[in-house]
Amino acid sequence: MKTMTCRQMGGNCDFAMQGSTPDEVMNKGVGHVKAMVANGDAEHIKIQAMMDAMQKDPAAGQAWYKKFTADFAALPES
Ligand SMILES: [Zn+2]
Repeated sequence: MKTMTCRQMGGNCDFAMQGSTPDEVMNKGVGHVKAMVANGDAEHIKIQAMMDAMQKDPAAGQAWYKKFTADFAALPES
């Protein structure tokens, strides 16, 4: 199990996501952003806009995912 914060994933808060695979943590991160957006959090609305832009720009999305999986791999197991 590894722990990654919203900030480590390119966000701006210290909410922690746990998972054993990068995809598990990424999905929790997406859920976290959606929940914060539902609360009207301006900073996470910006992250949502970034995520939407990446979906329309596969190269940017792949670059983010590559960095994310490398960062995830470098984390200590807990
Ligand atoms: Zn956050």
